[in-house]
Amino acid sequence: MTFDDFNFDASLVEGLYSMGYKTPTPIQAQAIPVILENKDLIACAQTGTGKTAAYLLPIIDHIVRAPNRHLNALIIAPTRELVLQIDQQIDGMGYFCSVGSIAIYGGNDGMTWEKQKHALREGVDIICATPGRLIALLQNGDINFEHLQHLVLDEADRMLDMGFFDDITTIINYLPKERQTIMFSATMPSKIRLLANKITKNPEQINIAISKPAAGIVQQAYVVHDSQKEGILRMILKNEDYQSVIIFCSTKDNVKLLEKNLRREEKSIKAFHSDLEQAEREEIMRDFKGKKLRILIGTDILSRGIDVDGISLVINYDAPPDPEDYIHRIGRTARASKAGVAITFINLRDQMKFSRIEDLMGYEVIKMPIPEELGQGPVYDPEANKKEGFKRGPTKGKSNYKGKRKSRP
Ligand code: AMP
Repeated sequence: MTFDDFNFDASLVEGLYSMGYKTPTPIQAQAIPVILENKDLIACAQTGTGKTAAYLLPIIDHIVRAPNRHLNALIIAPTRELVLQIDQQIDGMGYFCSVGSIAIYGGNDGMTWEKQKHALREGVDIICATPGRLIALLQNGDINFEHLQHLVLDEADRMLDMGFFDDITTIINYLPKERQTIMFSATMPSKIRLLANKITKNPEQINIAISKPAAGIVQQAYVVHDSQKEGILRMILKNEDYQSVIIFCSTKDNVKLLEKNLRREEKSIKAFHSDLEQAEREEIMRDFKGKKLRILIGTDILSRGIDVDGISLVINYDAPPDPEDYIHRIGRTARASKAGVAITFINLRDQMKFSRIEDLMGYEVIKMPIPEELGQGPVYDPEANKKEGFKRGPTKGKSNYKGKRKSRP
C-alpha cells in the first residue's frame, strides 16, 4: 500500500513526501480509510506507530476539499508537549495546502493567551488543546464550534489517568451533536470503553498490537533513587561476561557526564551523540562492532537501526519515554536468537511510565534487590508515587516490588 491509494489532495501529498513519509504505517493503513468515510473510530495504538498522521492526514484532506473554511477539527491531548508535537505535524503536512492550526495549552503568559485569542478570532482550521485551557476559553465564549466536524481524543487513557474525564465531557457539551469522533488510546481499560460508549456512534475499532520483546531477552529492573544509579551500574559492569554493552541515557548531557564518570575505571568506553563529527561516529561504531570497544553510551539515536551482533547487555540508565522505545532499545540485545540481558533503572519519576510499559507488554519485569551498601531504594508503587510523591520502603537486600500483577512466567 502507498499513500497514493488514499487519493489525497495533491497539495497534501506534497506535504507528506516533503516530510519523508513514503509508506503508510499499519495504523495509518487501517485508520485512514475509516476516517475518510466519516465513521467514528476507536483505535488502540501507541506512540511511535505513526498514530498522529493516521488521524491528521484524512482530516486535513477533508479540510482542503471543503468549499467553505471554518473551524473544522478539535484535537484534545493530555500534555502541552503532545499538543505542540501535533501542531508541528499539522504545520509540516499542511504546509503546501495552507491549513492553519493553533496550539492551546496552559502555563503560558498573558501575551500568549492574547495571541491565542487573536488567532481564534482570525480563524483557524484545527485547534489542538489540553483540556484545562480549552475549557477556560470556552467559558469566556472565545471559540465558536458551530461548524466543527471532527473531534479527536489523543492518548485518551492518559487523559483519564490525569483526571480529565469531567473536563472532556464538559468540552463535548459545547460541540455539535453531528460530528465525527475519533479516539486514540494506548490501552483500553473499562473506563475508556465507558467514555467511548458515551461519546461515539457505532464506532469502528482498530487494534494495533504492540510489538513484543524477543523471547531470548532476560529483562530486569532496579527501582532506584537517582543517586544510586551509578553505584549499581559500576557493580553490573564488573561482570566480565558482559563483553559488549550499550547504555541508554535520556539526554546528550547525561551521556557525556556518565562517560566522564565511568572513564576513570573503565577505559573501553565511548559516548555516542550528535555533537560528534560523522567520521568520529563511524569510527566508534566500527570499533564497537569489531569488539574493540566494550561499552557504548548514547541516547535513543542509538536504538533504531544499529545492527550489531552479539550485544550481551543493554542498560536503560534512564527509563525510555514509551513502550516502542523500550522495545527498540532492548531489541539491540538477543539479536539473531542469541540470549541477552536488558536492565532498566526506574527512579520515582519514571515509575508510572515503566508500569505503562509493563501493562502493554502484559507482564511484570523482575525487580532486582539493591546491594545493601548502596542504601534503600524507593518502593515500586506507581499509583501511589504518582499521587503522593515520595515514599520509601524497606528494600535493603530484598526485592522492593510491591505490585498486583503477575510476574512473567
Ligand atoms: P507518532 O506515533 O504519531 O508519535 O509518530 C512517530 C514518528 O513516526 C513521528 O516522528 C512521525 O513523524 C513518524 N511517522 C509517522 N508516519 C510515518 C510514515 N508513514 N513514514 C515515516 N515516518 C512516519
